[in-house]
Amino acid sequence: MKCAMCEKEAKFKDNTSIGVKYFCSEKCWAEYIGVEVKPEGYYGMVQKKVGWWA
Ligand SMILES: [Zn+2]
Repeated sequence: MKCAMCEKEAKFKDNTSIGVKYFCSEKCWAEYIGVEVKPEGYYGMVQKKVGWWA
């Protein structure tokens, strides 16, 4: 599954206002839903995949 914002492989999914979308990072996720971009892990979306971005 590709990220909704770029061509990278998605690492997690989120149930957004328009349905389930897949994202490669919290950066893409934050940009997609329109919240402030924070360091990876800030929103807890990828905490079950610790280390994948290292
Ligand atoms: Zn992405």
